[in-house]
Amino acid sequence: MNFLNKRTDALKKLEYFIEKNLLEYTKLRNFDFGTQNRKNISCLSPYVTHGVINEKEIINKVLKKHLFGKSEKFIQEVLWRIYWKGWLELRPDVWSDYLINLKIYREKYKNNKNYFNAMSGNTSIQCFNDWVKELKEKNYLHNHTRMWFASIWIFTLDLPWELGAEFFLKHLYDGDSASNTLGWRWVAGIQTPGKHYLASEWNIKKFTNNRYEKVKLNESAKPKISNKTYSISKNDFLNPEIIDGKILLIFDNNLSFEISDFQDKKFNKILIVNSNERRDILLSDRVMKFKESLLQDQLERLKNLSKDCKIIKIEDIKKYSDIIYALYPSVGENLDFINSNKLKNIQFLYRKIDQLSWQYCNKGFFNFKNYIPKIIQNIS
Ligand SMILES: Cc1cc2nc3c(=O)[nH]c(=O)nc-3n(C[C@H](O)[C@H](O)[C@H](O)COP(=O)(O)OP(=O)(O)OC[C@H]3O[C@@H](n4cnc5c(N)ncnc54)[C@H](O)[C@@H]3O)c2cc1C
Repeated sequence: MNFLNKRTDALKKLEYFIEKNLLEYTKLRNFDFGTQNRKNISCLSPYVTHGVINEKEIINKVLKKHLFGKSEKFIQEVLWRIYWKGWLELRPDVWSDYLINLKIYREKYKNNKNYFNAMSGNTSIQCFNDWVKELKEKNYLHNHTRMWFASIWIFTLDLPWELGAEFFLKHLYDGDSASNTLGWRWVAGIQTPGKHYLASEWNIKKFTNNRYEKVKLNESAKPKISNKTYSISKNDFLNPEIIDGKILLIFDNNLSFEISDFQDKKFNKILIVNSNERRDILLSDRVMKFKESLLQDQLERLKNLSKDCKIIKIEDIKKYSDIIYALYPSVGENLDFINSNKLKNIQFLYRKIDQLSWQYCNKGFFNFKNYIPKIIQNIS
């Protein structure tokens, strides 16, 4: 399975999945049949993370073809991403604390042999070694495999989740600050305190379709504990009134401006920001190239709308002192850059689907799920 790098490729993938495989999703989604057989899942996350296709268009296309009752599980998963994002937006310190702790663990583990063996796929656990290779070469792992991987990393190899989350972000094409950080916290047992995810021999055997047997793991580990609690920050995510003729910035999480809520507004210039500079977490060359090609594809499509759009480096946004707008980059490294440079002239534009959804992210996903019909009704 390869990930091509254009919006047209992503749309084809989505349409094929809706047409051929979506109705089997609920039954088969938890199986990792291996890299040559990914029909049971959509493999859309590298595109959705970059906004090359977005959740609203996915849901609308799904519901054009299938009844909600038949596609509910898939729609729920699509909205999990928005839920995790909203959860982190309401508690941005979880991200900043993650980066602080990551630095501490990097230093502490800089000569740790187990850590380097894990990252080079040189452990005594064959499936884990294979997944390391797959992660580095395919830049994607099945969701269940991500759970097993993280669980083995934390509970059997006894390594800090923070370093594992960094390893994922470095190599995943869909690397995303919210889904990744909170996914790892969830496996560790600190996202839902006291509830961890323990990978087990039988579960791996069954859901890899017997590809891996007799996997020896620590199946009795206790959840990790964090004493830190986070209160909910106040942010109403309201959009400013847009003045015509200003500049718009697009970061690498929103690469389909032409179908965005703001497509009809008159921006003077559109600048797509190459966010690969000045990162705390360095991305692999393959991920960098994937991002660059997606940015380039957005540029080509934008040239039909506005001739003066271009790709700039993130530090160049400091050159603009007048008001500029930015499609909201969300909690993560791009927003950190804006905040740490105190770029107060940048006004954020929030997507309607986020504005609608994030108000329900103060509690758990089971609570959020109740609002899904309401969210869908208001976006379509
Ligand atoms: C430890 C860990 C780390 C993860 N890191 C990331 C990450 O960096 N980036 C990322 O996009 N996802 C991450 N996920 C979530 C999930 O594994 C991927 O989104 C999913 O595997 C993508 O494959 P797919 O597109 O075939 O998903 P499908 O099953 O086809 O789902 C459709 C879409 O729903 C969304 N989705 C599905 N499952 C989840 C989930 N559990 N959380 C959030 N959104 C979901 C994705 O946008 C996905 O494209 C992580 C999960 C875990 C357990």
